[in-house]
Amino acid sequence: MQFTDSHIHLQDYKTNNTQQIISDLRNCGFAKLICVSSQPADFAEVARWADLAPELIIPAFGIHPWYLDKITDNWPEQLRSYLLKYPQSIIGECGIDRLKGCNLDSQISILRAHIKLADELHKPLNIHLVHAEDIFANLIKEISTPYMIHSFYGSINFLNLLLRNNAYISINPKILLRPRAAEIIRFVPLNRLLTESDAPFQSNYRDIFNLIKQISRFKSLTEKNVADHIKQNLQNFTKN
Ligand SMILES: [Zn+2]
Repeated sequence: MQFTDSHIHLQDYKTNNTQQIISDLRNCGFAKLICVSSQPADFAEVARWADLAPELIIPAFGIHPWYLDKITDNWPEQLRSYLLKYPQSIIGECGIDRLKGCNLDSQISILRAHIKLADELHKPLNIHLVHAEDIFANLIKEISTPYMIHSFYGSINFLNLLLRNNAYISINPKILLRPRAAEIIRFVPLNRLLTESDAPFQSNYRDIFNLIKQISRFKSLTEKNVADHIKQNLQNFTKN
């Protein structure tokens, strides 16, 4: 059985033992991971991880709404140059966070810039949304490329809207501790579901094994069937 992680910050392990982590990921049965950046200072490190294991790690370049104060005026050029240098790369993480982000108008305009760049370069988007369903609902029509919502724990109404728009819904193992886990996981069709760790922050990548197990229980399917679909979904999403 093979696993995928659609949202991991490998650069934030801040380790010299990159090879050891890559070996562990391979030994655990990971087939693909999306390594997401949070700010321009991450771009070179994310690129380095992708260079070390190009068949395993898809780099994602973008600016997280928590770190808009870390960018300089030339951020669009920096971002574009990494996206062009890595043809397999995607955009992210980017998004809106009403709880913890910077000024909301800046967040919206920076997310819009990511959406425009995605359209121009035909790149999928890895999106962070916290308490921002209403704002995102207004931006959906501007998105022309595939996108995923990472660590989803939103309303069923919003989920319906996202699914009608062919979004991918990425689930973090932490969801299993929350009351609506079963409801959300049952609601997302198997061909729209992704799994992620958000390591080293929210979960460990090894927690994805139990997540697959619980998804298979909620959906009354075999673990292998779930894992195979999720792997295929990631491939469809990234075209990698
Ligand atoms: Zn993240």
